[in-house]
Amino acid sequence: MNFAPTESQEMMIDAAKRMVRDRIDPVLARHPVDKPLPRAAMLEIYAALAELGITAPRLPVEVGGGLNMLDYGLILEQLPAVVSLSLTSHEGTVARIYSGCPAEIAAQYLPDLIAGRKIACTANSEVNAGSDSNAVRTRIRVEGDHAYLTGRKMWITNASVCDVFNVSGTLGNDQRGRPMAQRALVDRSLCDVEVREIEVTGLQQGHLSEVVFDEARIPRSHLIGDAGDAAKTLTVGWNGNRPLIGLMCLHMAQKAFEQAVEYAKVREQFGKPLAAHQLVQQDLAEIETLIVSARLLCYHALDTIDRGQRANGTSAMAKRYATQACERAIHLAMQVHGAMGITAELGLERLWRDTRMFQVPDGMNGILALIQGREITGISAFR
Ligand SMILES: Cc1cc2nc3c(=O)[nH]c(=O)nc-3n(C[C@H](O)[C@H](O)[C@H](O)COP(=O)(O)OP(=O)(O)OC[C@H]3O[C@@H](n4cnc5c(N)ncnc54)[C@H](O)[C@@H]3O)c2cc1C
Repeated sequence: MNFAPTESQEMMIDAAKRMVRDRIDPVLARHPVDKPLPRAAMLEIYAALAELGITAPRLPVEVGGGLNMLDYGLILEQLPAVVSLSLTSHEGTVARIYSGCPAEIAAQYLPDLIAGRKIACTANSEVNAGSDSNAVRTRIRVEGDHAYLTGRKMWITNASVCDVFNVSGTLGNDQRGRPMAQRALVDRSLCDVEVREIEVTGLQQGHLSEVVFDEARIPRSHLIGDAGDAAKTLTVGWNGNRPLIGLMCLHMAQKAFEQAVEYAKVREQFGKPLAAHQLVQQDLAEIETLIVSARLLCYHALDTIDRGQRANGTSAMAKRYATQACERAIHLAMQVHGAMGITAELGLERLWRDTRMFQVPDGMNGILALIQGREITGISAFR
């Protein structure tokens, strides 16, 4: 196994860094750090992401995709976390739409989504359906040429700035009393949807919302995928997303590490630089170890997916370890800075809050341990 980047991967990484410096960071810097970005700003960012070729990486090359997951991860690791979370919601939804809708619907929606002119999201979680995504109760009623959605979704990334939702719901119960899952594409320009932004601890330039569908009417042709495939498409997406989320945290932990190293060299206490004190060197060594081990686990999980092998356990392990390792790494980087570490001015406390956010989506740590445990033992301990 060799994770040294190839020449072409180095070029992708450099291109991503340039795009962040020239096109993405300036947009983020023009807006308050603690308020959701306006939609116009998001569209500016999406234009840059489309130019970079990462708005549909999981699609086949002939329809605008064709990146393998490890290459995608290497690029994503260079992006600010608030942007990469939005992007994975968007492009994950693009992949879900592509895998389940008739050709005419794909032709109508995918070009704008891939070009970054429109934004997509996936609405699955509900008040009583979080970790247990099978408990989704959003009702889809089909009548003639239309379907009607009624339900309340929670914690939906991109919802307040999106054009299109991929919504999971239920058509009712089958003969054995089990809910029949169904996905629906909801085009915001065709029906009323109520969206309310939720205030949270981190990633505050991003968008996390509650969404209410009240008899939202959609064309029947917008019911996508086969009835019952909703859970499967979500799981495939989550397996890919988990190590990607780990890399989003690594982007932040790496920044914190570099700041801590610089500070330790210039700040003096007891007559010498902090960096010359053994316990400070131990903190720096610990941060680097956390970062490198987490990064290798994430790359390994993405590479496992690229090789077509089962990645449920490896992906879960990568996200659980990386989110915790990065939170600890940033905490230690703050310690190295003393009181400066907790100032808003320095920005480390914001990275710490942002990192904390990633322990929740696409599987909380307890759930990820259960997924890995099921892979190890062959026994499910969920219920
Ligand atoms: C930044 C962010 C982005 C998100 N984006 C989206 C999105 O785009 N679309 C979307 O649909 N959702 C999204 N979510 C929602 C997210 O997927 C859910 O919040 C998550 O699945 C957890 O659900 P919950 O909050 O209801 O917690 P719960 O499921 O209530 O879990 C609470 C606690 O109980 C534990 N627990 C639950 N069941 C078990 C069990 N069987 N055994 C042991 N422990 C258990 C959990 O590990 C957790 O610690 C997002 C959330 C965040 C924070």
